[in-house]
Amino acid sequence: RPREELDQVESVCPYCGVGCALTYNVDRERGAIVFAEGRDQPGSQSRLCVKGRYGWDYAASPQRLTVPLIRKDSSYPKGALSADVRGDGNGYNDRGRAGAGGDRSGGGMRPDGRPGKDRGRKPGGLVDYDEVLPHFREATWEEALDLVARRLKEIHAEGGPGAIAGFGSAKCSNEEAYLFQKLIRTGFGTNNVDHCTRLCHASSVAALFEGVGSGAVSTTYGDVINADVVIITGSNPTANHPVASSFFKQARRRGTKIIYVDPRASTVAEHADVFVQLKPGTDVAFYNALMHEVIRNGNIDRDFIANRTSNYDALARTVAEYPPERAAQITGVDADTIREVARLWGEARAGVVYWGMGISQHTTGTDNARCLIALCSITGNVGRPGTGLHPLRGQNNVQGASDAGLIPMFYPDYQGVDREATRLRFEQAWGTQLDPNRGLTVTEIVKSALEPGGVRGMYMLGENPFLSDPNINKVRKALTALDFLVVQDIFLTETAEFADVILPATSYLEKDGTYTNTDRRVQLGRKVLDAPGQARPDWEIVQDIARRVGLDWQYESPSDVFDEMVELMPSYANLRWDNLGASGKLYPNADPEHTDGTVVMFDERFNTEDGLAHLVPAEWLPAKELPDAEYPMVLNTGRLLEHWHTGSMTRRSFALDAISPVAEVYMHPKDAADRGLVHGERARVRSRRGSIELLVRVSHREQLGNVFIPFHFREAAANLLTIDEIDPFGKIPEFKFCAVQVEAL
Ligand code: SF4
Repeated sequence: RPREELDQVESVCPYCGVGCALTYNVDRERGAIVFAEGRDQPGSQSRLCVKGRYGWDYAASPQRLTVPLIRKDSSYPKGALSADVRGDGNGYNDRGRAGAGGDRSGGGMRPDGRPGKDRGRKPGGLVDYDEVLPHFREATWEEALDLVARRLKEIHAEGGPGAIAGFGSAKCSNEEAYLFQKLIRTGFGTNNVDHCTRLCHASSVAALFEGVGSGAVSTTYGDVINADVVIITGSNPTANHPVASSFFKQARRRGTKIIYVDPRASTVAEHADVFVQLKPGTDVAFYNALMHEVIRNGNIDRDFIANRTSNYDALARTVAEYPPERAAQITGVDADTIREVARLWGEARAGVVYWGMGISQHTTGTDNARCLIALCSITGNVGRPGTGLHPLRGQNNVQGASDAGLIPMFYPDYQGVDREATRLRFEQAWGTQLDPNRGLTVTEIVKSALEPGGVRGMYMLGENPFLSDPNINKVRKALTALDFLVVQDIFLTETAEFADVILPATSYLEKDGTYTNTDRRVQLGRKVLDAPGQARPDWEIVQDIARRVGLDWQYESPSDVFDEMVELMPSYANLRWDNLGASGKLYPNADPEHTDGTVVMFDERFNTEDGLAHLVPAEWLPAKELPDAEYPMVLNTGRLLEHWHTGSMTRRSFALDAISPVAEVYMHPKDAADRGLVHGERARVRSRRGSIELLVRVSHREQLGNVFIPFHFREAAANLLTIDEIDPFGKIPEFKFCAVQVEAL
């Protein structure tokens, strides 16, 4: 059909935090998207990567959940099928290669929720619907919602508020995130509500909140064009924030210098003026040495330090202990390179630091981010165009879900739950008493479920911790130990296999909502397609449960919820559903009718109580589990360009799965040769917590002694290997460093 015969619907890409604006071209007769194209918006300027352009067909998968399901067979052990997530190569079964050659028709459920005809086949590496579904029965919405409300209320009555916990999702809209945290807080009297920010940038937020009084970025990724120099660190933006990466490369062509600091030689290294390949887990030592040199060279901004920061003397004393020669021993980066980077950064007029999860996902994640905040602050690189701090957010709405209060220590807009005046204000607004204590984080909830008197009932919305959380054999025990688990999702995920009730939700394509990207841009995503079967928007389901637990909620649309959020969130002041426009708006925004919003924050004062940036010195600490004779290599986990998190969407997207169908371990050619491993053949990777089997990918991008495994693949689940140690401040797990061995089969 020619384009003019198709409907154009404006939306937002559901994957990474760049939040590219796009338009779906829809054939209404077929009820199907024909193609997606980038839409002009200040942040993404009509650009899309492969995920945004092709990664939407999963929504039409016959495997969509379309009716509520209730576990019918109590003798069938929870998560029994997930026993195949043992890393024993199960996903390679009769097709030889996981994912490759799988049945793209899905095989499992038809759009009406009934089993399909060709149930004997399944897409490689996905949950086998044929094994799981017989242990559930279809239910009406009334029955399923009544059961959810009754069981959660019973557990609450027996075990108190602390027996209930909720995992929300950054895949949902702002309005859904807001309602979910409000339900857990007001319906069950607990702050035990969190989401995947805990696995992503919780440490960055902890450091930013402490340092500058706001967990959001201080400038946009597009502001790179105004910078003389940028540091991109702990990030592989070509794979994980591809459109932002295109802005970085464009800026370099116009003269911005790029310093790339990362243990892996990702493709960004080819576009960098200086590539610093440091040893994993040594960021604090490297950045302390940079500050040591910047101070020694006199390249600090004394006025900025005197007037806009506190605690400089303590910081200076700490970094004085990190001369380049000492840092070189720790980081593996030669002292002259450290000096060169310090000069480049220190002599620049304007610089931004962009960082990713290579900084945040460590037991020292908060310390890593503290160093970046301090480096920018002592050189006056905050509050002007082309300067600032930008943690590149992972999921497209992880910024928005955090803003909306989907975290255990903050109400919406980072207003602390343990501050009495704040709590009283929210009690008045929400009409009920609230828990005065901070709740448990994602990682703490999993631990609590294994303890007597801990969490017994969980409401899981759009999260898949059985693949995404560290040390999943422990997660398996925690999910199995729960008295009641309700999972609300669009597919039968690995976590849903543990559920007592499964509620079918709509995807972002089947509802209206707002999403907030890494730049603080609040954008509207509009309904593109009708929901399959009986699937319903998350906000409607959450409201129905809220009413059943006794809350008098009367929201008629997501815009009603958005209005309430704006009233309670000072950062969102002046925003309205109908002034977001086609491009969305940045917050804070004094006049959204006429301006795009604030690009550069903190031009006069920081958001801390005293208005100053608080410099927090950090000492370098080694990782919690170091290589030894039995486990001599370091494992780093992360994402690929074509896939997203636990793969429930992208592995059901034909183009994306076709490009990247198999799990691989990336390793240096010499490490492979030393072990007799051959590119394309299978190997076993072992840690103290488990082992997996997957294909070897020989890659010069890896350092000797280090391997990289993406965490998208159920059949070779990387998180069977990872360690569940957490950062003491941000409570984020260590996904970037544990000891493993790789061996031939
Ligand atoms: Fe989507 Fe991110 Fe790609 Fe943009 S860069 S199209 S938001 S995945």
